[in-house]
Amino acid sequence: MKSATDIAAIRGSPQDVLAWAVEQFHPRLALACSFSLEDVILVHMLQAIRPDMRIFALDTGRLNEETFECAEALRRRYGVKIEWHFPDREDVERLEREQGLFSFRESLEARHACCHIRKVVPLARALTGLQAWITGMRREQSVTRTELRQVEVDVVHGGITKLNPLADWTTDEVWAYTREHKLPYNRLYDSGYASIGCAPCTRAIQAGEHPRAGRWWWENPEHKECGLHVRHTKR
Ligand code: SF4
Repeated sequence: MKSATDIAAIRGSPQDVLAWAVEQFHPRLALACSFSLEDVILVHMLQAIRPDMRIFALDTGRLNEETFECAEALRRRYGVKIEWHFPDREDVERLEREQGLFSFRESLEARHACCHIRKVVPLARALTGLQAWITGMRREQSVTRTELRQVEVDVVHGGITKLNPLADWTTDEVWAYTREHKLPYNRLYDSGYASIGCAPCTRAIQAGEHPRAGRWWWENPEHKECGLHVRHTKR
């Protein structure tokens, strides 16, 4: 097994990193897909490396219709099977019965509680048995991601390897690749959305606003993670 130092030294083009990951970890490797531009790019790149690569997605129960449409477009274009994971039914029922439907706007703690039930717990389930997972995260996306590496040790999830092949890419590069390959994308991007999560916690941004400004817009920038990508990773 490679040490955290060895892993941090692994760098290359996104395709090189994906090919290395497939060689090292398949079939105990999966792509976490939220149908962002970045995730669609990774699905496209993986078709040339490992078309039967596992892809999982979290259906939080609060996603936009446009996100499901993008998921279907992806499934039809590539014939991929998407492993959907849902939150625990009893946890959601308890949350909504006791706190209402928009408790996440009331405090940071309440927001984290909702993200925990709808995202963090299902993610942990999706990662069970894996040695590594792939995300579409990029450094440019958020003040919480400025130290992101292409390959990291994910201490939060038991020390498995976390791959962020597009860590270095800019937004312009992402759009250029999407257009060059005519990839399907969530049509909310055409309505001013720059980062897309759950419907009630995401809005379009204005010109000049940071791309993550539309996520949990009532919170400070340093709080804008949902618990899926907490960085207690070794580098
Ligand atoms: S993004 Fe909003 S609706 Fe989705 S899980 Fe988090 S708090 Fe709940």
